[in-house]
Amino acid sequence: MTENARTGTGDRAGALTNWARTVTFTAREHHRPRTEEELAALVRDGVRVRVLGSGHSFNRIADPGPDGVLISTAGLPRTVDVDTAARTVRVAGGTRYAELARTVHAHGLALANMASLPHISVAGSVATGTHGSGVANGPLASAVREVELIVADGTAVTIGRGDPRFDGAVTSLGALGVVTALTLDLEPAYEVEQRVYTELPLAGLDFEAVVASGYSVSLFTDWREPGFRQVWVKRRTDRPAVDFPWAAPAAGPLHPVPGMPAVNCTGQLGVPGPWHERLPHFRAEFTPSSGEEIQSEYLLARSSALDALHAVDGVRETIAGVLQICEVRTVAADPQWLGPTHGRDSVALHFTWTKDEAAVLPAVRRLERALEPFDPRPHWGKVACVPSAVLRGRYARLADFRALVRSLDPAGTFGNAFVRDLLGD
Ligand SMILES: Cc1cc2nc3c(=O)[nH]c(=O)nc-3n(C[C@H](O)[C@H](O)[C@H](O)COP(=O)(O)OP(=O)(O)OC[C@H]3O[C@@H](n4cnc5c(N)ncnc54)[C@H](O)[C@@H]3O)c2cc1C
Repeated sequence: MTENARTGTGDRAGALTNWARTVTFTAREHHRPRTEEELAALVRDGVRVRVLGSGHSFNRIADPGPDGVLISTAGLPRTVDVDTAARTVRVAGGTRYAELARTVHAHGLALANMASLPHISVAGSVATGTHGSGVANGPLASAVREVELIVADGTAVTIGRGDPRFDGAVTSLGALGVVTALTLDLEPAYEVEQRVYTELPLAGLDFEAVVASGYSVSLFTDWREPGFRQVWVKRRTDRPAVDFPWAAPAAGPLHPVPGMPAVNCTGQLGVPGPWHERLPHFRAEFTPSSGEEIQSEYLLARSSALDALHAVDGVRETIAGVLQICEVRTVAADPQWLGPTHGRDSVALHFTWTKDEAAVLPAVRRLERALEPFDPRPHWGKVACVPSAVLRGRYARLADFRALVRSLDPAGTFGNAFVRDLLGD
């Protein structure tokens, strides 16, 4: 069967694509099992299998290749079981954050953080190291306490915190098996107020003070001029307020991408709201970002943030013509072996490009040359040109991850070109 990853319904010219319609999956077959038994049978029978979450990645990470089978988790039951006493939730892997957040909030509980959009699946997000922002907030994977998988022989395996394999099992690029469920940490529900400030100069920027001025802070620029067009500051109302003296507050609600309607965005102007209606930038019922785009993102040590921003400023004129918006966030270090924030508190430099690959790729390469001195780790779900041989040198625990893949998936059922290339197989 075929389905469109962007809508979860229908068929676009007979081909299954990613959300941005920039990648057409080459899989020989697409399946959408309705039960775990059906899923396990598909895995047992498949020679090459990859799992598709909500299809929001911009590269071929989910593509099994022409001899493979793509299994969508969209048809599986969306279990969301909240344990209010333990402050945890067990959630089916294919569940989207919007759905998870609504249920968790209804129990008076909350997640510590969310990405810029709530439309993405939980298993797909943590598999690629997806993150929001905040100097003390790790990636979404840092909330995971247990992972339940169906591995290549069709059996179920559970890996929890404390298991020596755990730090390889969450941000796993889909290479270990199908994640059927995850158990996540929760905390009491909280409120957040969001304010947007405009025109923050790069010259004299006190980066550390700016990013510490809220629970989650994002800086946006189109790099047409130096400095930042907008700064989004999300403050928890249960924490002391911090002044923002560096730029003026916006007069009305704004969308981070110039020309896009602010109605797509979560509430601003300091009006307090529940955590899940403020931490993402985009509202669940609207198209996030611009919808017509390619994305890249690089994570590097936060201590190098200012130098890296000046390096990007140095190639501003090369990239601005194909750039819709750049977002700068912070992410706390995380122990996941393949986490792009592994072992270092990070700054994340994100780029939403125009949807023109031929024009964008030269800009990506130029940008990567400028960032090279900072050992950046590209986001696993976005477009990058850094060769795998170079990437391997940026992940100290890659050999441990390779050994974990071999132990759970000796025949390489869940391997694809993306993963094999990274592992050097
Ligand atoms: C508009 C937009 C905004 C974004 N904003 C952010 C952001 O704020 N922060 C950020 O870090 N990223 C962001 N991203 C990137 C996005 O979070 C990642 O691409 C993420 O992987 C999307 O989850 P998904 O379910 O769509 O994954 P998919 O693209 O479907 O899959 C990604 C990987 O996960 C694997 N996978 C998926 N489900 C399972 C499963 N059940 N079991 C095993 N493996 C599985 C796949 O095989 C694949 O390898 C954004 C993307 C878009 C399109």
